[in-house]
Amino acid sequence: MTESARTKHDALMARAERVIPGGVYGHGALVPPGHPRFYARGEGCRVWDVDGNEYIDFMCGYGPNLLGMREPRVEAAAARQRELGDSFSGPTERMVELGEVLTERVRHADWGLFCKNGTDATTLCSTIARAATGKRVLLVAGGAYHGAAPWCTPTKAGVLDADREYLRTYTFNDLASVERAASEAGGDLAGIVASPFRHDAFHDQELVLPEFARGLREICDAQGAALILDEVRAGFRLTRGGAWESLGVDADLSAWGKAMANGYPLSVTLGSEAFRDAAKRIYATGSFWYGAVAMAAALETIRLVDEEKVVEQLEARGQQLRDGLDAQARAHGLVVKQTGPVQLPYLSFEDDDDNAKVNLFTTEAVHRGVYLHPWHNMFLCLAHREKDVAEALTRTDEAFAAVAKAF
Ligand code: PMP
Repeated sequence: MTESARTKHDALMARAERVIPGGVYGHGALVPPGHPRFYARGEGCRVWDVDGNEYIDFMCGYGPNLLGMREPRVEAAAARQRELGDSFSGPTERMVELGEVLTERVRHADWGLFCKNGTDATTLCSTIARAATGKRVLLVAGGAYHGAAPWCTPTKAGVLDADREYLRTYTFNDLASVERAASEAGGDLAGIVASPFRHDAFHDQELVLPEFARGLREICDAQGAALILDEVRAGFRLTRGGAWESLGVDADLSAWGKAMANGYPLSVTLGSEAFRDAAKRIYATGSFWYGAVAMAAALETIRLVDEEKVVEQLEARGQQLRDGLDAQARAHGLVVKQTGPVQLPYLSFEDDDDNAKVNLFTTEAVHRGVYLHPWHNMFLCLAHREKDVAEALTRTDEAFAAVAKAF
């Protein structure tokens, strides 16, 4: 991207700084200078910023764009519901249909409570776990992200010690650290929160060790605590149902969001029978939580996940990207690590503690129209076809060349 190609971007940022705290905030601000912050439109796996620069997008809105932007069949389903109405004083038939689809799909789930953001869903999990068990302590993995509420936000500002009084941390894949934290909780352990794999920012990704997942289940059973799986980021990309089902591990409560309605705002807490009564007893609601358009979009999205074999497609394209990047890095004499599932790519450079290499690499890629992230996992979508990944790779080769030249 040249200086002149950012005219509108810079003007918009200046206006935003006057009327929006920080101009952009949250995940909109989680990018280095040079990455676009304001978007104009998107189509499939491509997005255009406000200056008209086009990118092959490997962030997919940080996850929501699972099939690609403006997927025609999802848009048609949403439009049909919009003709009938969206926010009523109660739910529509869409909610029951979606509850039926999800409880059929996710093995541990007997019911679902719909909400809007991932934070809503993880927060409901924690509230229901405490209501069900009558206990207080929650264990979370250090460095894991579960949302932007006081109990889980990574930032301290405005958060009271009291908000976190019953929160303890463990290390992902380190069962001894969980056992220690659980025993320190005494008889007061309400639940253990885990991600399907370690997908922390600024950290090479780590797949879950089967014995770790099974160990969490055993500790929860022994202590009468809830196993809470945060599927918000990986859900619908990794497996057809719950992420740990193939390991023989079922959660008690799970949180889903992001990809489930292909960009429409929707999330859900799923729970097993034993937690249904607690889910009835807590007060859960939001003005937009019954929104029928997003639910209609979700029904069509999930139908397409199966029809289009989305998990397999994403794996194939993710593997193509990973193999291509690996070969290019090697050809340029650079050592990179690519970790985690291929459909949620994460790339780091050897000897790059200050992220200088990876920042340069992604910035050079962005300048060439390939939107990559330096220190957050990325996302594949169904609209990334073989030719799009191939096109992206022609440009990343030049980005690697720039890193090789600079270091
Ligand atoms: N959990 C995980 C694993 C996430 O990745 C996120 C969002 N990045 C959340 C929870 C919170 O979701 P939301 O931003 O929709 O509130």
